[in-house]
Amino acid sequence: MMNFEVKADPELWEKIGVDVTRLSKMREVLTDLYKKAFLSQKNRPEGMRYFDEVISNIHTGRIREILQAKEEGRPVVGTFCVFVPEEIIVGLEGVCIGLCGGSQGTIPDAEKVLPKNICPLVKSAYGFRIGRVCPYFQVLDVLYGETTCDAKKKNYELYAEELPTYVMEIPQMKRKVDEELWLKEVKAFKEHMEGVAKRSLTEEALHEGIKIINRKRKALQRLNELRMTENPPISGKDVLLINQISFYDDPVRFAEKVEALCEELEERVKRGEGVSERGAVRVMIAGTPMALPNWKVPNIVENSGGIIVYEESCIGSRYFNNLIPEESKDLESMLLNLTRRYMKINCACFTPNEERIQDILSAYERSKAEGIIYYSLAFCHTYNIEAYKVKRACEERGIPFLFIETDYSPEDVGQLQTRIEAFLEQIRERRS
Ligand code: SF4
Ligand code: SF4
Repeated sequence: MMNFEVKADPELWEKIGVDVTRLSKMREVLTDLYKKAFLSQKNRPEGMRYFDEVISNIHTGRIREILQAKEEGRPVVGTFCVFVPEEIIVGLEGVCIGLCGGSQGTIPDAEKVLPKNICPLVKSAYGFRIGRVCPYFQVLDVLYGETTCDAKKKNYELYAEELPTYVMEIPQMKRKVDEELWLKEVKAFKEHMEGVAKRSLTEEALHEGIKIINRKRKALQRLNELRMTENPPISGKDVLLINQISFYDDPVRFAEKVEALCEELEERVKRGEGVSERGAVRVMIAGTPMALPNWKVPNIVENSGGIIVYEESCIGSRYFNNLIPEESKDLESMLLNLTRRYMKINCACFTPNEERIQDILSAYERSKAEGIIYYSLAFCHTYNIEAYKVKRACEERGIPFLFIETDYSPEDVGQLQTRIEAFLEQIRERRS
């Protein structure tokens, strides 16, 4: 696998309007980064090969599949948040892509337009679009935004100048009245999406969409259970990678591959075979999502004698927790069940948001983690402020807690390394 490369297809890129020179350079950087971060790991499960293939084909094979879907009349939909209901998109045979914003390389593009002091996720994603370096952006039929944080909300107005963009209103409280508002928004989204797909969402189609996405979430839940076992059979980095890929891949094929990997991991667990040294420090991460290819902090943690056993994030548990009941088959109750499932996502954009703190504490117990690293992207006010409450809850319970605020630049890697190593050492000392 060391001959791994992120493949190039300049002809295809030219055709869809990608900046070929820049993407060619970026895929070289990504190849290098991937080899160092993933392929250098010892004792990786065989089932990871599929996910290596996905990354290898991320700018080529998957794009050709999507173009094929377009030819078949299936709409291609881009999203930025786990609040946009995938079940409806998939029910309408759409291809749903969670657009990434995890790269430092596109931030200077965005900063020509956006202020410097906003979250790097927002800047990176927008930079991909205006720099024409993301093939996914080039093939979208529609972009669905949401009113979660101010940076994204205002940025959608700029996207709308370039792309068909539709923004969903997300309630920021969880009262009865908010559930009603959210149900109305879900229905309006369904109607809009029906217009894009040029077909209507039948009961059977929505039920099928629910089953497909439930299966995908269930597979990720099973993987999460396995990574929490006493001697984890898979690294936290690989689990993060799989969660990142879940936003790009075909959902049916993805679920099958995760299930196959879980079978292999179950065998490993039976044999007591783990990926890290016995005694590795079990770390839980909580906070803002780490979008592809943001592997900065997990790399440091797992190269310093830690293993990540849980990730409370939207590219983690907030995406796969909670399923939609499959018993109801009439449209109205399915849409209500869907709404209720989505209202359980405890994003820091909600106020108050005590459920998130309870979620973190219970995941900490379940995963038998030994400490929490709270990860906040710079200028993400909601997660940044909520860190205070999470820290206080941890202190009250004697849970080791480390707060990290960072962006995608490599400048603070040395400093983060020192802080993370000291944190892991502090946990080891507590053991004795
Ligand atoms: S952190 Fe909040 S705004 Fe961001 S993807 Fe998750 S739910 Fe959406
Ligand atoms: S990390 Fe925070 S600021 Fe950035 S997009 Fe998500 S919610 Fe918005």
